[in-house]
Amino acid sequence: MEIITTPNPLLRKKSTRVGVIDDEIKDIISKMTKNSLDWETLHPHELSAAMAAPQLGINRRIIIVRDDLDDKDNNHFTALINPEVVRTEGKTVKDYEGCLSVPEIYGLVPRPEKVKVKALLEDGTEARIKAEGYLARTLMHEIDHLNGILFIDHIKDDTDAFYKLDKNGDLKPLDYNKHIKGNKDLFPDD
Ligand SMILES: [Zn+2]
Repeated sequence: MEIITTPNPLLRKKSTRVGVIDDEIKDIISKMTKNSLDWETLHPHELSAAMAAPQLGINRRIIIVRDDLDDKDNNHFTALINPEVVRTEGKTVKDYEGCLSVPEIYGLVPRPEKVKVKALLEDGTEARIKAEGYLARTLMHEIDHLNGILFIDHIKDDTDAFYKLDKNGDLKPLDYNKHIKGNKDLFPDD
């Protein structure tokens, strides 16, 4: 099983809700965790913060989020099933986002500062999460995946928002007209 990337149409599909959290769902969750960590091994300058099931070509409403978004040595992820944004709060802030399914492109994405999310945990209990900062951003990015939305959609008309990671791990501005505008791999419906 592999992480799918743009322009794979499965990334643009709305995912279906999970009914029963059975062995099939638990198996998907463990595959997501394994693939996130495998990806990180191949990308030494990047941290695999989270993943949504559609990124493995599985259109179900499941995401995993790393327990510590700053610590590469902490390999534990929490799965959230049928996650929903209950409310967003605070001002809109821009910060960098990347995506395992949008290789090598980073972007400055505007999002609300805080979010409340409800979801089921793997054991079936309901969780309510209040998040801010990078965790809030990560949750919104992953829930977007379940609706077929990628971070680049939020910045597609901003000529100064796109970056590329160079081989030293530094972000360098991308030439918008050359690499982004009219790029059917990134924006197939344009
Ligand atoms: Zn993503």
